[in-house]
Order: sequence, then structure tokens, then C-alpha cells
Amino acid sequence: MGLREIAGQLECGRLGRYGLSMSLYIAPNEDVVPTPGQPKIKEVRAYVSRSDEYGASDVHDTPDSHWIMGLPDADGGWDHQRTHPPITNPMSRFPKYAGSRSSWGVARVPTVIVEIEDDEGRVGVGVSTGGEAAAFLIEQHLSMFVEGQNVRDRSVIWEQMWRASIHYSRKGLGVHAISAIDIALWDLAGKTLNEPVYHLMGGRTKQRVPVYATTSRPDLAQEMGFHGAKVPLPYGPSAGSAGLGKNVEFIGNWREQVGRDFPLMLDCYMALDLQYAVELARALAPFHLKWIEEPLMPDEYVAHAKLARKLESLGTTVYFATGEHEYTGYGFQQLIEAGVGLLQPDVMWMGGPTEFARVVAQARAQAVAVVPHGCGVYGYYMAMAFDHINLAEFMMMSEAADTIAPNFGTVFKNEPLPEAGYITLPETPGFGLELNRDALNLVRPYEH
Ligand SMILES: [Mg+2]
Repeated sequence: MGLREIAGQLECGRLGRYGLSMSLYIAPNEDVVPTPGQPKIKEVRAYVSRSDEYGASDVHDTPDSHWIMGLPDADGGWDHQRTHPPITNPMSRFPKYAGSRSSWGVARVPTVIVEIEDDEGRVGVGVSTGGEAAAFLIEQHLSMFVEGQNVRDRSVIWEQMWRASIHYSRKGLGVHAISAIDIALWDLAGKTLNEPVYHLMGGRTKQRVPVYATTSRPDLAQEMGFHGAKVPLPYGPSAGSAGLGKNVEFIGNWREQVGRDFPLMLDCYMALDLQYAVELARALAPFHLKWIEEPLMPDEYVAHAKLARKLESLGTTVYFATGEHEYTGYGFQQLIEAGVGLLQPDVMWMGGPTEFARVVAQARAQAVAVVPHGCGVYGYYMAMAFDHINLAEFMMMSEAADTIAPNFGTVFKNEPLPEAGYITLPETPGFGLELNRDALNLVRPYEH
């Protein structure tokens, strides 16, 4: 039957008579209604902090003297105490913004904190990056798919938030807002069922979660017992071949200091281009890095595929890692198909635990490794719940990377911290976190 004939038959309804509808919605879809007798969600509230010193969901909310801001001396040197190695980034190519990362406002969009309360007074908490902009989306739009529902029905709530925000979201801020809500829903579900979130996601897959340190001091991380250290790359392509030479010297120095067997990783924070990434990987091959992270801008999927092929042809075993700025299973599938060997989803940004579980399943089935990106305790709960994850990230948030400090600063009263390279998670319900309200000075800008 030709197309024209089919179109004709559809027009006069003949195919319909034979049950040849194109859709599998054979039965009419019905709305999910709250189960009687189950607690219903009463209110969604989104807050920002007006405190000067509270730490944040984005670790860049620190003074310029913090190692993570990458501010060297005027002559480009550093002493690791008052000044630190530069950190290359997507803005390094513009001389005006090539200094500290604060010069281009990396931390201008702060934390958003979500509370979801049910009609029996339980409160789930979720956190993401997005500040007042995310608070607006959460209160003025996304809350309508949450309030009045049972917390058990998280999948349909997620799907409705995702579909209803697709015309302005898909990636970035809108998905951060969804993530904060989804985290708060899982926290509330745990509190409702009196179980930690990892039990709701399948149970424990390890006794403790091994962590590596993201730091400016691999030597100190090694002394503290971490299972590896990741350093930021000092120079990008705009620093030319002199910068490339200094990068090689920088990594060579750390390899020498920590010895040949301590896992060492490199974070390029989206600063490179394809050719530079290949040259750098070739030059660093003798130092046996465990992975090279985020060398390219996230949307350069074609460049990702070319880089994966070129790294393979170099014969190096270094993992090509990326994904902290990727969103949902659709985005991660593109990275998998490009040949990325290690995905680093951030559960606080990429869609929340509901979507994180789907991405882990995708990665596992396609033989791609997963190590959660940052996000402190939320990443540890994901590592605990999935056998496919063998390692998590701990951000050294002390100013000179010399002591262990909470990932979220003063946001929570009781963040679990690593001991001898492992995180032990509590059995307390939900994510087991207590919001530090006294320190936060919370403001609710868009009450609905
Ligand atoms: Mg990174």
C-alpha cells in the first residue's frame, strides 16, 4: 500500500476501524490520584540564604583566597597557602576574565533549598544550584505537579515536571529546579517510610563508600588516606606551548610526590579544544593518570567522539571522563555514544535520584563506568545504592586543602565526613541531613 493510499484510508477512518491506530495508548490514560489514607503533599517551599558565610551547593562560593578560585601571585607563581595554582576554565581565553574564576561570576548563581511538607508535618529537604531563579520556577510552576500528590508517586511527578518545563528547560537551570524537588521528594519518602534513601533505591551495595579527593594538594590527600586525588589543570590552550609545558611539569611533579601507584586524576573544566586535549593526553601518558575529566565544552558531542577515537589510537588506558554538566538520560546517552568511558552525573543538577538511577542503568548496560560528580552526601547515597559505582568524590573545601571540611559549608548540621578514605552513611531516614536554619538566614522570595 502506498503512502497516498494510507493517507487516504486514514482520512476516511478505515484503518481506525481495524484497530490500526499508531499509538500504544490503546486504553485511555487515567490520572494518578492520591491513595486515600496516605499522607498528601501539602506545600512546596523554595528558599535562598541571605547569610554571608554558609557554603553552597556550588563549591565555588568561596573567597578568592580559596584554592578552588585558582588565583596565583601576580607573577603566576603560588605558595599553596596564600596563593594557589591557576585553574583553567571556559573563560580563560578572555584576558579580562583569565584571572580568578570569581572574575566572571562563577558563584553568582547561589544555592536553592527546597522544603516539601506533607499533611502530617514531615518535611523533605532538597538542594541544588539556582538561587532565586530556580526558586521562581519551583514555587510558581513546578510545585503544581507536587502539591496534593502522594510522595510515593515520584515517577509521575518527575515526568510531569519534565514535560511541562520542556519549552524553557531541558538542560541547566530548569533541570536543577527539578533535581532539588526530586531530592526533597526522596528525602520525604525516606522519612515517611522510616528508611534511608539508599534502601529505597535497592539497598546497600557496599559497607562504606570509598572516596577520592578533589584538591590542590594530592600529597596531603594521600596522607589523609583518600583513594586518589584529582587536581585542576592550571593552563588552557590560550597559554600556548609554554602553558602546555607547565601543565606537564605540574602533573609530573605531583606524580613524583605521590609515587607511581597512587591514583591521580586531572580535571580540565571544559577549557580545552580537541587538538589541545589530544596533545595534553599524549604528553601526560608517562604519568599514568586514572582519568582526564571534562576536557571539552559539554555540547561539543562531535568533538567528544573524535577525542575518544584519538585517545584510543594513542594506546593510553586513561579514562575519558565527563558529565557533570550533562542532563538527563537523553544527554548522557549522547556522551555514551560519543565514546566517553566514565560518566560523572551530578544528582543535584542532572535530574535528581529518579533520573540518576536511569543513567546508571544506561551506563551499566553499555559498559561505561560511573563516578558521581561532587555534591557531597547526595553523591554518596547514590554510590551506596548502585553496585555499578565503586568510587565517589570528596571536595576538599578547606581553603588550603589541608583539613577535611563539609562540602556544603554550614548548610547542614551533620554532613557525614570521610575517615581514612571512606564515608560511612547513617541509617537515619531520608538523606539523614539536618538543615542548619540558624546559620542560613533563609528567605522565601516567591511564596505562592
Ligand atoms: Mg570536574
